Amino acid sequence: AEEQLRQAQKMEAVGQLTGGIAHDFNNMLAVVIGALDLLERRVAQGSTDIARYLTAARDGATRAAGLTQRLLAFARQTPLAPRPIDLDAMVKGMLDLLVRTIGDDIRVETHLAGDLRPAVADPSQLENVVLNLAVNARDAMAGGGTLTIATSQHRVEGEEAERYGVAPGDFLRLCVADTGAGMPPDVVRRAFEPFFTTKAVGKGTGLGLSQVFGFVRQSGGHVRIDSTPGEGTSVHLYLPCAAAEATAPRDRAAADREPPR
Ligand code: ADP
Repeated sequence: AEEQLRQAQKMEAVGQLTGGIAHDFNNMLAVVIGALDLLERRVAQGSTDIARYLTAARDGATRAAGLTQRLLAFARQTPLAPRPIDLDAMVKGMLDLLVRTIGDDIRVETHLAGDLRPAVADPSQLENVVLNLAVNARDAMAGGGTLTIATSQHRVEGEEAERYGVAPGDFLRLCVADTGAGMPPDVVRRAFEPFFTTKAVGKGTGLGLSQVFGFVRQSGGHVRIDSTPGEGTSVHLYLPCAAAEATAPRDRAAADREPPR
């Protein structure tokens, strides 16, 4: 748990770092746009002395491209390591950490389905995602409230699978719900965009939900937000179910011991 807390703090630092990088990137783009504006005006005035504005624009764009290269290299540092996860056990194992992260003003409730098939995802990344969602929920419940974590199994097929952009099949649903401020529809629409935040400068990076989105898509799943202003928000994660043969090795050994019929 201490290790997870450190990990959560590290993620917060990473978020702040990334926010700083985005700020630098915007400054570089401002140089490019400024140079192009001047260039446009000079050209309109019939000036032939345009080379230095072109050089300034190219230098700014080259620096910005170098920065995105570094960002991409950084983002690729931790490849996902998916394996079967017992979601109920994971949630139970995280409760202490969750309570410590969001504080005593918020009640934490769980609605665990019990007897779920395993999901397939990277366990430590999934825990980070749940922490991210819990921190957002806390931020939305300034005057206290209830955080509910629920699990269930859900078959996604037909039109729903198409809408979610996933292969039809069995999914595990992990829901993180709060009784906080909620989001108006235009915020829900933009919530997964990188760097989209409604929080004060230095408070929000706008990277939390975009990381959540990237994680579930890479895991072959889907994420959906239900939110009502003044009532609260539910974030539903859909993660693929482990194939029957992909259960834990211990279970497979037990199955092997069973007498043939
Ligand atoms: P950040 O939390 O740094 O702003 P996120 O990507 O996690 O970045 O969230 C983007 C925006 O979505 C937030 O600024 C907030 O407006 C909204 N949001 C996210 N989670 C919730 C929530 N549980 N309740 C209300 N609004 C939320």
